[in-house]
Amino acid sequence: MTGLIMKFAPIGVFGLIAWVAGTQDSELLVSLLQLIACLYLACILHIIIVYGGLLKFATGLSVFKFFKKIVPAQLMAYSTASSAATLPVTMQVAETKLGVSKVTSSFVLPLGTTVNMDGTALYQGICVIFVANGLGYDLTTADYVTIVLTSTLASIGSAGVPGAGLIMLSLVLSSVGLPSAEVIGLIAGVDRIMDMMRTTVNVTGDSVVALIVDKHEKTLNEEMFNDAPSTVSS
Ligand code: ASP
Repeated sequence: MTGLIMKFAPIGVFGLIAWVAGTQDSELLVSLLQLIACLYLACILHIIIVYGGLLKFATGLSVFKFFKKIVPAQLMAYSTASSAATLPVTMQVAETKLGVSKVTSSFVLPLGTTVNMDGTALYQGICVIFVANGLGYDLTTADYVTIVLTSTLASIGSAGVPGAGLIMLSLVLSSVGLPSAEVIGLIAGVDRIMDMMRTTVNVTGDSVVALIVDKHEKTLNEEMFNDAPSTVSS
């Protein structure tokens, strides 16, 4: 079913963008493109710096190997925009390529799919700042703290399905007194493009956590992770 939906996804995304391009003025379109570019940049930096750094410092494993092996799960996340739909692929990659034990992957990954959504929190934070700037609303330090707290909570509360983060965005917007209904209608047209990227971050984060937990539990198959020939004689 996911495969079938994905065949139609480009047409759907095209339709959404065409609607935004056709109904909004060019200035708004440029702002929305800047928002998308900003989110993509933040997500890429988050994956490389935060996840790469976390993996290196917490496990000592090769970051390059991890990024090479996680690609199938990332591609599935990017194309479906759903952590839940990607879960079977994430678990398969974790167990057959990263060397994560079945016990760890079957506990950490489904849990991460529901609560660990860094990409969604990043997206909500960026969107709120984008809206505040657009409306000329001056955010105070207390507002920034509120944004951090509410976007973290809203991301935990978001389901691993497409568009969940957009619905929870209204919570973050109203927490600092910004209008939510109009803004959500505006962002909805380009949300799918951002959803694809934030889901990729979410899925990558779940896999990093699974590796860290498994290493800590001493059940990680490092030979599999390093593609080294197994030392267990048959
Ligand atoms: N689509 C995201 C996910 O499945 C959730 C969101 O909308 O941010 O991880």
